[in-house]
Amino acid sequence: MKKKIKVLISACLLGDNVKYSGGNNLTPELVTLLEKYNVDIVKVCPECFGGLPIPRVPSEIRENKVFSKDNRDLTEEFLVGAEKTLEIAKENEVDFVILKERSPSCGSTYIYDGNFSGNIILGQGITTRKLNEENIIVFSEENLEEIEKYLIELDKN
Ligand code: SF4
Repeated sequence: MKKKIKVLISACLLGDNVKYSGGNNLTPELVTLLEKYNVDIVKVCPECFGGLPIPRVPSEIRENKVFSKDNRDLTEEFLVGAEKTLEIAKENEVDFVILKERSPSCGSTYIYDGNFSGNIILGQGITTRKLNEENIIVFSEENLEEIEKYLIELDKN
């Protein structure tokens, strides 16, 4: 029998209320795409895995460390969350990963600049960096076309 495609995904993109505000980032177009290809989903929230509460003070990356808006160094918590996410990705042998863009954990092309000014810069979140180090492919919810192309390729195998 053909193996189902397995994808690890930021839980907030699927509607889980795990983001710093206590809300979510539900992306209906992503849910529709995943249903179309009948993928197996593995949900993660790296910041929750790192022991951070919901809601929580927002954090940003500055000089390779992570600081909350009230200036606590949360680098260790973010690293723990990244490790746990990597472990889950490996255990589940996921085909690829979709993480929330601009998050200090999950961003894959953009993050905030570290000054809580709303400015966006090129960069990756702590979990995305960790997954990329292990050659795991990470897309964001802003690249649905690329995700679909990848799903089509995987579906052929
Ligand atoms: Fe979503 Fe990732 Fe932030 Fe968790 S850490 S709320 S999964 S963006």
